Amino acid sequence: LQKRFSDELPLPAKTLDERRVHLYLNAGLLSSLASEIAEGADGIGLYRTEIPFMLQPRFPSESEQVEVYKQVLDAAIGRPVVMRTLDVGGDKPLSYLPIIEENPFLGWRGIRLTLDHPELFLVQLRAMLNASAVRDQLHILLPMVCCLDEIDQAIAYLEQAYLEVKQDLHPHLVRPKIGIMLEVPVLLFQLEEVAKRVDFVSVGSNDLTQYLLAVDRNNPRVSTLYDCYHPGILRALKHARIDCDKYQLPVSVCGELAGEPIGVILLVAMGYDQLSMNQGSLAKINYLIRRVSYADLSELLDKALSLTNGTEVRQLVTAYLKAAQ
Ligand code: PEP
Ligand code: MG
Repeated sequence: LQKRFSDELPLPAKTLDERRVHLYLNAGLLSSLASEIAEGADGIGLYRTEIPFMLQPRFPSESEQVEVYKQVLDAAIGRPVVMRTLDVGGDKPLSYLPIIEENPFLGWRGIRLTLDHPELFLVQLRAMLNASAVRDQLHILLPMVCCLDEIDQAIAYLEQAYLEVKQDLHPHLVRPKIGIMLEVPVLLFQLEEVAKRVDFVSVGSNDLTQYLLAVDRNNPRVSTLYDCYHPGILRALKHARIDCDKYQLPVSVCGELAGEPIGVILLVAMGYDQLSMNQGSLAKINYLIRRVSYADLSELLDKALSLTNGTEVRQLVTAYLKAAQ
C-alpha cells in the first residue's frame, strides 16, 4: 500500500473536483531533509528550530545557526520555508537553560521567553535573515503568542534585525513574511486584529487542543481526554478558517491533525488548503486527497460537528473513508 501511495506522490494533491491542497513538511532535523523535500512536498510548513538547539550542549552561535538555516532553505529549493523562532519551555527543555516552574505549559515558553531575552531572539532573527539573503522563501513564525503586544514587539525586533543584516551584509535583503502560531485559544477571537499585523497564521492543533480542553498533551493519566476530534475543537477550527477567510489572512494547519486521514478529511471540508505534516504522512495524505470530492464533504462535516464526542466523529469519518475506497 505504501508503494501505491508513493507512486502518486509526484502528482499534485487535488481532490476529484480539482481543489488543490498544498502539502508541506514538518521538519526539525537536517538528516535526509533534502530527499524528503525532493519527494513531493510543496515546501517546509514548519521548521522547528528548537530541535537543533536541543541537540547542542549550549546556545548555537549566530554563524552556526546561519549554516543550519541555509541548509534548510537549500533543501527546499525555491519553495516556501516556514521557520519557527525558538519554542522551548513546556515539553521542550534546554539542558543549558533550566526552567523550574509549577506549571510549565502555562509558563515561560515560546515567544514569552525570547521576548524576555532579546539578545537570543535578535541573534536567531539575524541568522535566519542572513541565511535567507536575497531568496524569497523565508517565512518567520512566532510560537505561543497570546497577545497582540507580543506580535508588535516581535515585529519591532524583526525590523531591527532586518536593518542590521541589510546594512552589514546583504544590501538587497528580501523581507520575510511573518506569521504566528494559532495555538493559544484566546486569539481565535482576535483574528481581525491579528490579520492587521501578520502575513499568515499556522494553526498548532496540538497545543490548541491542549489549551481548549485544559488537558496536558503528555500526561498519560488524561490521555483519553486529549482528543483533537472533540466536536468543540472541530468547531474552533472551523471558526478559525471562517474568520481567516473573512479577514483575508492566509492560514495553514501544522499540528498532528493535518497528517491524519480523518483529520485531513475534516480540515479539507472546512476549507483548509495548506496542511503541514511529518514526512511519514505525506504520500498517504496525497493519495487520500486525490480520492475525495470536496463538494461531498460539507454534509459529512456538518454531521461530525453535531455529534457528541470524538469517538463518534472518528467512527463517522472512518465509515466514510471505507465507503470511498
Ligand atoms: C502545535 O502545537 O500544534 C505545533 C505544531 O507545535 P508543537 O507540536 O511543536 O508544539
Ligand atoms: Mg505548539
